[in-house]
Amino acid sequence: MLAPQLSQANDSPTKLMIILLETNSSIKQYLKNWYKYDMDIDCPLCGTLTRRHTKYERQVICKTETYTIFILRRRCKHCNITISLLPSFLKPWQRFANHFREIAGRWHLVGKSLNRIAANLSQSGISRRTLQRWKQEFHDHLKRELIRERRRLVDDSAIKESILVLYRKGLTAGDELKIILLSLLGKAKSIPQTGKLLTALNLNLPPQDYW
Ligand SMILES: [Zn+2]
Repeated sequence: MLAPQLSQANDSPTKLMIILLETNSSIKQYLKNWYKYDMDIDCPLCGTLTRRHTKYERQVICKTETYTIFILRRRCKHCNITISLLPSFLKPWQRFANHFREIAGRWHLVGKSLNRIAANLSQSGISRRTLQRWKQEFHDHLKRELIRERRRLVDDSAIKESILVLYRKGLTAGDELKIILLSLLGKAKSIPQTGKLLTALNLNLPPQDYW
């Protein structure tokens, strides 16, 4: 139910923590069923049972619509932290839904220009500047993971053999991207369907590596 990784807390007197809630549902389903996630969970820091805390409203921007959803919160008095249970279709501090950002990333990968992407997504009110920033972030993620993957390849003789066969055959950029994504997805045997990839990645990564 809960992603094992937690976000960093800040320095304010009451610390904030975000837990990705593996909702496995669409935004519309979450809108109907959010209260079902109001359940007892243990504090990730001390293990004691957290208490129900206030909920708050938050906007989620999609391609053609903006939704207002509730975010449930829990509180651990012992650690003085407030925990937000963020549905996994969102990234912390990000107003745009993961599937929306993924669409932009995929279009960018197949060579669609920023102007065309901005035009196609104009209904959402997204700026060209934001798309430009995402493009950069997307590249940074890929670059970082490519470097990590190549290092892993050098260090791990078990995976080295199987992947080296592929490299010898001649690996395209797309093949290599698939290898990287599968390795980040952990147990997954295939790349999730379009719109579910960033969520699946984030549920499997530490907060500092969220896409
Ligand atoms: Zn605690």
